[in-house]
Amino acid sequence: MQWPRVDLHCHSNLSDGALSPQDLVALAQDRKVDMLAITDHDNIDCYNVIDRPADGLKIITGTELSTTWRNIGIHIVGLNMDLTNSTLLQGIDYQTKARALRAQEIDRKLEDLGFSNCLEGARRYSSGNQIGRPHFAQYLVEIGAVSNMQQAFKRYLGAGKAGDIKQQWADLGDVISWIRSAGGVAVLAHPTKYNMTRTKLCQLLEDFVQLGGEAMEVISGSQTNAITESMAKLCRQFDLLASCGSDFHAPSQPWAALGMAPKLPEHLTPVWTRWQ
Ligand code: AMP
Ligand code: MN
Ligand code: MN
Ligand code: MN
Repeated sequence: MQWPRVDLHCHSNLSDGALSPQDLVALAQDRKVDMLAITDHDNIDCYNVIDRPADGLKIITGTELSTTWRNIGIHIVGLNMDLTNSTLLQGIDYQTKARALRAQEIDRKLEDLGFSNCLEGARRYSSGNQIGRPHFAQYLVEIGAVSNMQQAFKRYLGAGKAGDIKQQWADLGDVISWIRSAGGVAVLAHPTKYNMTRTKLCQLLEDFVQLGGEAMEVISGSQTNAITESMAKLCRQFDLLASCGSDFHAPSQPWAALGMAPKLPEHLTPVWTRWQ
């Protein structure tokens, strides 16, 4: 068990998660989490609806910003930001518009493949909140185009597929600077999820650090000790702070259980030393 028990990456239904922000907080309290950041994709709306709970749980502000680096979709988590900062708010506004444009583009691509009314269908799943590829995936399952979400990503929405539209996002340097303007820490999210070679990941980390990035997720969801060691090595090599999070989206995904991330290796400096 992590001590303190920390989860600095999870999603509510104000992006592509299953639980409301309030239910997420309640679940974190049930799990005896000490420190939680809800990091919805490209939005901070959850912080308007959760009451700051007293019951031993410290809430850290967060968001997960979409960007690209060398045409690869990359996610940067911002933590401990002043949510009233105008640079950050303008950035979030930019990403919200980019997401809406991208949804139209995904709709067109899927239409070309013979699937109609995808935007309308995806909107039903996003319930007026931030729209993303998982909502399109849910619609593709609904109409029987695929049998599950995983297949929807594999065939139509995942990296390199027709619905993988990423050119609208702000640059890596921009998203890092928004986070920093708001006094926050920029964290490279789930470094093993980009299918990069070690060499390429090192190049990304070099650019990330040079642009003001200060931390990386050494632990993302449940992972093998070998991966943890490998990420810990990179974290030290680039002199970064270490973060950990489940990337929890829904109770049905046991590999990303809220608040259950294993302990960070001892020799790393945890990102929360920045605000404790
Ligand atoms: P978006 O934010 O619209 O780019 O969608 C990215 C989100 O899709 C990620 O945060 C995951 O929640 C989800 N996702 C990515 N790849 C897959 C996959 N292969 N299967 C299911 N969900 C995925
Ligand atoms: Mn997601
Ligand atoms: Mn992500
Ligand atoms: Mn995430």
